[in-house]
Amino acid sequence: MKTYQRLGMMGGTFDPIHYGHLVAAEEARCQLELEKVIFIPAGRPPHKTKREISAARHRLNITRLAVASNPFFRVSDVEIMKPGPSYTIDTVQIFKEKFPGAELFFITGADAVLEILSWKRVEELLRLCYFVAATRPGYQLDELSKNIPGFPINGKKRIITMEVPALAISSTDLRRRVREGRPIKYLVPEAVEAYILNNNLYRTPTLTLPPQRGRGKSS
Ligand code: NAP
Repeated sequence: MKTYQRLGMMGGTFDPIHYGHLVAAEEARCQLELEKVIFIPAGRPPHKTKREISAARHRLNITRLAVASNPFFRVSDVEIMKPGPSYTIDTVQIFKEKFPGAELFFITGADAVLEILSWKRVEELLRLCYFVAATRPGYQLDELSKNIPGFPINGKKRIITMEVPALAISSTDLRRRVREGRPIKYLVPEAVEAYILNNNLYRTPTLTLPPQRGRGKSS
């Protein structure tokens, strides 16, 4: 097993993955000197119990297609293969065991990080890894300080912010575009565009998640 000192974990639903995600991961890799960035499509995002998301296998397949050309990127199916909701603390603990000694940087969208105080075992999570909150252009950074008392968490900079202009692209807009028959070319890698069109993703209402059992208080 190869050892790493600084490893990026790119968490998201990726429904679908787009160039904004890829640019964010590459930017984080360069700015934070990460040796690899591992994309981790969420199996069942804990906060999306009522929202519809596409089948996990499709999100995993398009993530693999999207990262294939970057030798510093990998994909992990750890959350997809695990039954039940995908809590980030569980995934980070698995990575800690698999890559002992590596400093972990969990990269995701700033709007997701805004909710972090409601996540399962958040204090432990913030001890185990750094968070990289990727923001869209014009994002009000004081939203983070308003919502997260003590941001950036006791001055220890456990949450790092990073503006990513390409994040003007959004998965919500891409799904709407496909539904309305508008182009997604140049917004996602070609192979991802072809996969979406060939598999008729986003044309009709997507699969509904079955109800979850045994959910605790944390989201
Ligand atoms: P989301 O609510 O769908 O996304 C929130 C915002 O962040 C959206 O604008 C989204 O844009 C953006 N975003 C999401 N992932 C991103 C990424 N990797 N890079 C840049 N922008 C990103 O969030 P989500 O995707 O479901 O969840 C994000 C991560 O947080 C996942 O790994 C999820 O498992 C984790 N999470 C954990 C807990 C918990 O442990 N309790 C709770 C909530 C979320 P797009 O729609 O364009 O992607």
